[in-house]
Amino acid sequence: MTRFGSDATARPGPCMELFGCCGDELPTLRDLSQQAVAHALACALADVTAHAPPGAVTDDASSGASGAVTGNGPWPVAVDGTAGNGHDTLFLARLVGARGLVHAFDVQPRALARTAERLASAGLEERVVLHGRGHEELAAALVAPRAAPLSMPVGEGAWPPRVTTAMFNLGFLPGSDRSVTTRSETTLAALKALLPLMAPGGVISLHVYAGHPGGADEAAALDRHLAELDWDRWQVARYEFANKPRNPERLLLVLRLPDPA
Ligand code: SAH
Repeated sequence: MTRFGSDATARPGPCMELFGCCGDELPTLRDLSQQAVAHALACALADVTAHAPPGAVTDDASSGASGAVTGNGPWPVAVDGTAGNGHDTLFLARLVGARGLVHAFDVQPRALARTAERLASAGLEERVVLHGRGHEELAAALVAPRAAPLSMPVGEGAWPPRVTTAMFNLGFLPGSDRSVTTRSETTLAALKALLPLMAPGGVISLHVYAGHPGGADEAAALDRHLAELDWDRWQVARYEFANKPRNPERLLLVLRLPDPA
């Protein structure tokens, strides 16, 4: 009997590994978010033939984190909807590998500068396009020339599926101007633009803070919109601490289900 199950050959799932290394605390919502996002990217990279456009897969072990290439464009594609200090952007840049691309958005020049600095220290700036515009302009930003494969038709069922994962860390940037927060309308606009771009098996992670002015409205608006998504195409989960006294937060994970065979 191993710590993770009865079969010594059984491999722990991502959450089991997480609990195994957390000691005396439950995983934070950030841990869960990163775990879900990392899992989606790992699955996409492992299952490259299922995600690539027909005829586009080559087996060039030198050119990507997965050792496989999908056409000439960057792949997989990830989005950081709120770059902030760049922690999530860097996390995504590491995971997408040498052939991947991260689109990171922020409306504050200071946030973009910090993100750029963080990426440069890690030598990963080449994997990221920084967009100094709101995430509500996501659809327009992603069809820019740099993102060549995304110039395919937009819409449900468009091929190739575009975004493997997206992270949003809502609210204000700690240690910065607290009056600049994400807002219901723009967050919803970004989500609506993103949903049709998601690859089957792709995950959107939204870390929502409800304690600041407008935060509760934003959380409620997201809940309402996500509750209406078709269960046959999307799974949406909400995680939160039941007894956290201050700074209410929750994590929404949105999984785009694979298309039926
Ligand atoms: N993920 C970041 C923290 C983000 S804090 C980190 O790891 O450090 C939220 C960020 O959202 C702030 O930097 C704020 O400037 C940004 N923001 C606010 N409204 C936005 C919008 N409409 N589009 C993109 N970013 C926005």
